[in-house]
Amino acid sequence: MIQITKACPHCGSIDLVSNGHNKKNGKQKYYCNGCDRYGTLDAAPRYSEERKEEILKAYFERPSMRGIERVLA
Ligand SMILES: [Zn+2]
Repeated sequence: MIQITKACPHCGSIDLVSNGHNKKNGKQKYYCNGCDRYGTLDAAPRYSEERKEEILKAYFERPSMRGIERVLA
């Protein structure tokens, strides 16, 4: 099994394992250990890096946004 460095579109987990490729569209197939799902990923490696950053950003920004809301309320 090959470890994939992409985030799951369902749960955002990066704990994915390769499950081969879709013969029709060439997309990477994966199994997600986070939410127990199978799916396909876009094969472009650049996208995965941007996506990871987006997810990390969202994780870090969420608590501060809550803090701001609390201050304004
Ligand atoms: Zn998942």
